[in-house]
Amino acid sequence: MSLGTWLKTGTAAAALVLAAATAATAAPAPVAVPDAAAAVVTLRYDDSRAVGWEAAVAAGVASWNTNVSNVRLVKAAPGVRAEIVIVATTGWPQATLGPVRPGRQVRVELGAQAVTQGYDKTRITAHELGHSLGLPDTKPGPCSQLMSGSSAGTACTNAVPNATERSRVQSAYATALAATVPTDGRLLVDAP
Ligand SMILES: [Zn+2]
Repeated sequence: MSLGTWLKTGTAAAALVLAAATAATAAPAPVAVPDAAAAVVTLRYDDSRAVGWEAAVAAGVASWNTNVSNVRLVKAAPGVRAEIVIVATTGWPQATLGPVRPGRQVRVELGAQAVTQGYDKTRITAHELGHSLGLPDTKPGPCSQLMSGSSAGTACTNAVPNATERSRVQSAYATALAATVPTDGRLLVDAP
C-alpha cells in the first residue's frame, strides 16, 4: 500500500469512527421492532373437492389457527390457487410433507377408508394438515400427540397439537427461518 493510499484509507476510517462516535452520543435511534402481525405466514387451502369433510376441515383448520400464531390457514376464494389442496378419496389419508410456503403447493387426501375403520374425521384432518405444516409422523405415540395418528387407536379423537408439535410449526414459520427451511415434499401415507 502506498503512503497516499494509506493516508486516504486512514482518513476514511477516522471519518467513520468520528461518525460512529457522533451517532453514539446523539439521541438513540429508534429500534426496529418486527411487526408481529406482518410476520404471520398466510396459507390458503382449497377444500372444494373434500366433499363430506367440510366440518372436519373447518375444525382441523380452527385447531391449528388457535394453537399456532406464525402461520394462518385461510380458505381460498373460488378460483384462487391454494397452497394446500384438500381432496376426499376412497383410500387411506395421506399428505405431502411440508412446511409448505406461500406460492408452493402440497396435497392432503382425506381417505374414507380410515373413517370406515372408525378413526375420527377431525383428528384425521388436523393430522394431515400437520404434515402440510412440516410435521412428520410420530408413530407409535399417545393420543395427546396429533402426529401419532392412527397408532393412538380409533377411540382417540384429539385434534389438538401438543406443545412440542406447536413449537415445531412455530419454528418452521418463524420469520427468520421461513426462507431457509425447505419443503420436504415426501408423500406420507397414513394407513395403520
Ligand atoms: Zn401421518
